[in-house]
Amino acid sequence: MELKGTGVSPGIAVGQVLLVEREIVPVFRLLLPPEAVEGEVQRLSRAVEVSRTQLQAIKDRMAREVGIPHAYIFDAHLLMLEDPLLLDRAVAIIREEHVNAEWALRTVSEQLHALFDEFSDAYLKERSTDLDDVLGRVQINLAGGDDAPSLARLPRGTFVLVAPDLTPSEAAELAWERVLAVALDAGSQTYHTAILARSLGIPAVVGLRDATRRIPPGALVVVDGARGHVSVEPSAPALEAYRAAQERDRIEEQRLKETRGLASVTLDGVGVRLEANAEFPDEAATAILYGAEGIGLFRSEYLLGRSRRWPTEEEQVAVYRGLLEQMTPHPVTVRTWDVGPEELAPGGPSSPNPALGERALRLLRRDPEPFRTQLRALLRAAAHGPLRIMLPFVAGPSDLWMALELIETIRGELRREGQAFREDVPVGLILEIPSAALTADLLARQVAFLSVGTNDLIQYLLAVDRVDPRVSSLYEPLHPAVLRTVRDIVAAGQRHHVPVSVCGEMAADPLQALVLFGLGVRELSMSPASIPRVKAAVRGVRAAHVREVANACLDVPTAAEIETTLRRELAQALTPAAAVKE
Ligand code: PEP
Ligand code: MG
Repeated sequence: MELKGTGVSPGIAVGQVLLVEREIVPVFRLLLPPEAVEGEVQRLSRAVEVSRTQLQAIKDRMAREVGIPHAYIFDAHLLMLEDPLLLDRAVAIIREEHVNAEWALRTVSEQLHALFDEFSDAYLKERSTDLDDVLGRVQINLAGGDDAPSLARLPRGTFVLVAPDLTPSEAAELAWERVLAVALDAGSQTYHTAILARSLGIPAVVGLRDATRRIPPGALVVVDGARGHVSVEPSAPALEAYRAAQERDRIEEQRLKETRGLASVTLDGVGVRLEANAEFPDEAATAILYGAEGIGLFRSEYLLGRSRRWPTEEEQVAVYRGLLEQMTPHPVTVRTWDVGPEELAPGGPSSPNPALGERALRLLRRDPEPFRTQLRALLRAAAHGPLRIMLPFVAGPSDLWMALELIETIRGELRREGQAFREDVPVGLILEIPSAALTADLLARQVAFLSVGTNDLIQYLLAVDRVDPRVSSLYEPLHPAVLRTVRDIVAAGQRHHVPVSVCGEMAADPLQALVLFGLGVRELSMSPASIPRVKAAVRGVRAAHVREVANACLDVPTAAEIETTLRRELAQALTPAAAVKE
């Protein structure tokens, strides 16, 4: 049997299933004699205290092992435990109705869910999952707590974990060292557990809908995290094929990692700088492992985490400074908040078309505070290393001026306060809106660098929603309009002596990266694990030849024909093994 979901963390794993069933603890309503009421209140307080200690321990472990942003989620959970709506209310129910603590908690949970259901807001709906997570923990602790089996104490051995869902606290608590792969009924690409599995390098498929119903416990399964497949009790030949693919992946991964110490230059000596994109501070270590020469895009908005709390200036200085220290002597490019109105004012009206709405710099007009705090932190952190500030979602020169003016004001403020900061931090922008690409020459006069955000640029150039699967076949990175736009941006950069990089997903695909290189791009930023493959491709070509091929593609009318041309001309460079040798 073959199940299809969304592959969110690549790799192939073969193993026995450990099925996690959503534990449904039966809750009874018990009437207590009056003299037992205060004892029951005490029992509830103890379970809450144990829950608090557990959550604090999980939070500390997350902060230590995977970074502060993952840990923020648990602040929200800890705050829920303090919330009078929750516990004071449960205590009141025990005292008024003389019922057991489990029943009181369940009543509170129902009341709060009814309240959450009245909101249509996605943010509040997520809070309702958090509520179940926190209350579920208290219920388990009431039932005997610490001795109950948990995800932190999996049976001996290693497993493929099959579960309906993994809440953030379950994912944090999970004994990952026992987990070969994860297959979940729920979830999507941007799902928190998916991001975590990617950071940990564990293959994962999510969105399987009914895997927990269809896969028997103990079955042998293969999880293919790149293709999004889960194969249950595969036939002997299929299993052999998977094992062979797994071995090929392992050898190739090993060989590619060996490129870490090799220079990223073509056969005729032209260099390309390969940097890493990162969402979490702990990814700096992975970036170094794969040989990144800097962080070309730090998506800072991930610091908001699921709790959507804006980090303070001091917290941000610590994060940016930590990134610089880890990446020394390489540069770190931090993108300023690329957020929508829902982050600025949770629960407020959402934009009818978020991709064209009020986001990133456009929100400055409404509430500059989060941007001011971030820019202060960035200027201060820059005193400690080569930090660069990158502005997203710039539509043209006036957006840029507005941001530059704010940066100038902040410089004045920091000067007056006598704060240590760097005056001449390089400020650049992402070219991801066609109007900015068309005015790249005007923008280049005022910035230190340009970075092409192909993910959004393609979406806006081709009018294809990047998140709508119904039009995904129309999302063509090799469309001649994309290649011509990149050519023009590179020309504008060269005219004004401003470096041009690419930080969208095109940079991570060896074939597409080569065409960008052929068009004159000399810096590429991508997910760390993609670096070795792109480096191998670069090392397998002659720059002069790629330039010729890329220029010829500019006159080819369709993406399909461009791809055929590129594959024909560059085939040799795309067999990585050929290019890894010294
Ligand atoms: C882009 O748009 O290409 C980009 C790099 O940013 P994001 O994918 O975060 O929009
Ligand atoms: Mg973008």
